[in-house]
Amino acid sequence: MPFHTAVRPITVDDATLAAHLEHADTAALLMTVAHLTGDLSPLDSWSDPQGWLSLPQAQTEEQARAVRALALRALARHRDGGSVPPPPPDPETLRRITTWAMGRDTDGMLPLLAEEILPPDADPRAPRWTADEFTPGPGVRVAIIGAGMSGLLAAHRLSQAGVPFVVYEKNDDVGGTWHENRYPGCRVDVPSHLYSYSFATRADWPDHFCTQPELQEYFREFAKENGLYEHIRFGTEVREARWDEEGASWALTLRATDGGTATTEAEVLISAVGQLNRPLVPDLPGRDDFTGPAFHSARWDHSVDLRGKRVAVIGTGASAFQFIPELAGTAAELVVFQRTPPWLRPTPHYHAPMAEGGRWLLEHVPYYAAWYRFWLFAPGLHGVLENWIVDPDYPPTERAVSAGNERVRAVLAAHIEQQLADAPELLPKVMPRYPVGAKRVLRDNGSWIRTLRRDDVRLVDERIDRITPTGVVTADGTAHEVDVIVYGTGFEASRFLAPMRVTGRDGADLHEAWGGSARAYLGLTVPGFPNLFCLYGPNTNLSGQGGSIFYFSECGMSYVLDALRLLLAGGHRSLDLREDVFHAFNERLDEANRARAWGWSSVSNWVMDRAAGRTAQNWPFTAQEYWEQTRRVRPAEYELS
Ligand code: NAP
Repeated sequence: MPFHTAVRPITVDDATLAAHLEHADTAALLMTVAHLTGDLSPLDSWSDPQGWLSLPQAQTEEQARAVRALALRALARHRDGGSVPPPPPDPETLRRITTWAMGRDTDGMLPLLAEEILPPDADPRAPRWTADEFTPGPGVRVAIIGAGMSGLLAAHRLSQAGVPFVVYEKNDDVGGTWHENRYPGCRVDVPSHLYSYSFATRADWPDHFCTQPELQEYFREFAKENGLYEHIRFGTEVREARWDEEGASWALTLRATDGGTATTEAEVLISAVGQLNRPLVPDLPGRDDFTGPAFHSARWDHSVDLRGKRVAVIGTGASAFQFIPELAGTAAELVVFQRTPPWLRPTPHYHAPMAEGGRWLLEHVPYYAAWYRFWLFAPGLHGVLENWIVDPDYPPTERAVSAGNERVRAVLAAHIEQQLADAPELLPKVMPRYPVGAKRVLRDNGSWIRTLRRDDVRLVDERIDRITPTGVVTADGTAHEVDVIVYGTGFEASRFLAPMRVTGRDGADLHEAWGGSARAYLGLTVPGFPNLFCLYGPNTNLSGQGGSIFYFSECGMSYVLDALRLLLAGGHRSLDLREDVFHAFNERLDEANRARAWGWSSVSNWVMDRAAGRTAQNWPFTAQEYWEQTRRVRPAEYELS
C-alpha cells in the first residue's frame, strides 16, 4: 500500500487516456484542467456544480463529454511536453476555481484552501521547527495515550519535530476504532480519498468507501513507514495521570494486559483516546438471563456461526446499518429492533470499487487527486451545516428546523419513498419523524431497505420491554424467540477519558470538574490541567462540516505543536488555560449547539446528553472556524509558568 508521494508521468496514447477519462469525477477533472491550462473559461459553461445531495458528477452527459474532451487535449499536451507538473494555483486561480465549486466567494478561506491544492508530497501543517533549536532548554517528553488515528498523528508530528515521546496503547496493534470494530460489513462512510491524513494520501484505495481491513492496514503502514511502532507500548493502559506541580510533569500509572503496573512521567500529556471505544450494552431488564450468545458490534464474536440461526439485532445506528444487510441471508431469521429510523443519504457508489481508470487518473494527472479531495471536502466547508441551523422564524418543528432543512428532507424522503413505492406498508416504520441532521445521516445505496423487505427479515419498532432466556419481549407483549442477540447499540460516547483518573492542579479531578459533561477549549485544553491536550476531544465531532475527523485532528495537532513551541522557546514549564477563556468559549459553543438540529430536536441521539442538557460531542461551527482557531496558540489565553 504505497502512499502517494509523486505524480507519475503520462506515457499512454490518446485512446488509453480517453478510456481512463471515462472514469473521472467530472467536476474534479474540470477544476484540474482549469488549473493545468490556466484557462478558467470552461468553468462558465457549467454553473452551480455544488450541492450536498448532488452526486459528484457532471450535470448532464453532454457536459461530462465536453469536460473529458477538454481534459484529453490538455493532458495530451501535458504528456507531449514531458509531463512537467505546473506549480500550485496562484491565489486568484484558486479563488476563481473554488468559488465556482462552492457557489460562493471563497476569498475569506484562501489560506485554508491553499493547504489543500498541493502536490501529493506536500505537508504544510508539519512543524517548521525542531526541538534542537531550543537547546539547552527545559526540554519536554510527551506521553500520548492511544495509537488510533489521532495518536499516530501526534506521534508522527512529534517525531518530525524531534520531541521525545512514548505512545501507550491498550490494544495489541494500531488503528483504534478500526482495530476494534470488525463486524461484518464494517467500512468507512466518509469517502476514502478524504478519510486519510492530508500528508499521507493514497491514490490506490480499492473502494470509494474502504472496508475495515483496508483502513487498519493503512494505519499499520503509516506507523511502519514513519518508524512509529518502536515508540508504542502495546497492551498498556494508562490508568491514572496526576499533575505534579513541583516537577511540572504528569505522573502516569500504567497497567499492562498481564495486570502488572508501572509508573512513568512526562511533561506533556496528549490524550488521543477517541470518543467511540467503550461499547454501550443497554441495561435492559433480563439482559443477562439470555442463554444464547450475545455480543456488541464492537466486540463481534466471530466464533458464533450465525448460519441458520434466528438472530436479533438491537439498534439501527451507523454500525447496525452496515452489518444488518450482511447478516440477512446468513441467519435463518433476522429480527431488527429499531427505536428510531435513520435518514438515508443516497450514495449509489457506497459499496463500489474504484475503477482502474479512476485510480490511474489519481496517480498520473497532476493535482487531480488534490482537486478530487477538495471536491469531497467542499460541501462540508459550506452548505451542509447551514441546513442544520435552527431558524426560529421558520418556525422549527420536529419535521424541519428551517426552510433549507425542509428542502433536504424532501430529497431524502423521496429517496425512501421511491424504494417503497410497491411496499408502502413499511413506510411508517422507516420514515424518520425528526429533522434531518438531528442524528447522523447514513450513506445508502439501497441495500438497507432491500434488506428490510426480505422475507427472512422482520423490522420491529415496538419498544423492547425485556430480554428473556430465549429472546426479546416487546411492549405489546410479543415474545420474539431468537438464538443470538447482537447489540448494535453504540458507545458510551459521553464518558470522555473514562475510566482513566486524571488529577490536575490542587488535586482537582477531571471528571468531577466536568460534572458528567466533558468540556475543553477547542476540544483541546482544560483549565487546571496544565500541559494536557485532548485530540478528538470534547465537541470536536463533525456533523455537517464535511472534511473528516482526520482534518480536525490535524488542526488540533497544529495547535498542540504551537503550544509546545511556546513552552520550549519561552523556557516555560507549563501552560494552563485561563478560566474565563474556557467559560466564554463553552457558553458560545453551547448556545450554538442548542440552535442546531441535534440540539433542538428531542430525538434520541448519541451526541446529546439529555441529563446534562448539552452535547459534549458536536462542533457546531464551520470547519473553517476550527482551522482558524487552531492555527496558533494565543499566549494571552494561557498562564505560562
Ligand atoms: P449509534 O449510532 O449510537 O446507534 C445505536 C443504536 O442503538 C441506535 O439505533 C439506538 O437507537 C439504539 N439503541 C441504543 N440504546 C438502545 C436501547 N436501550 N434500546 C433500543 N435501542 C437502543 O451507535 P453506532 O451505530 O455504533 O454508531 C456510533 C457512531 O460511530 C456513529 O454515529 C459514527 O460516528 C461512528 N460509526 C461510523 C461508522 C463509519 O464511518 N463507517 C460506522 C459505524 C459507526 P436510537 O437511535 O433511538 O438512539
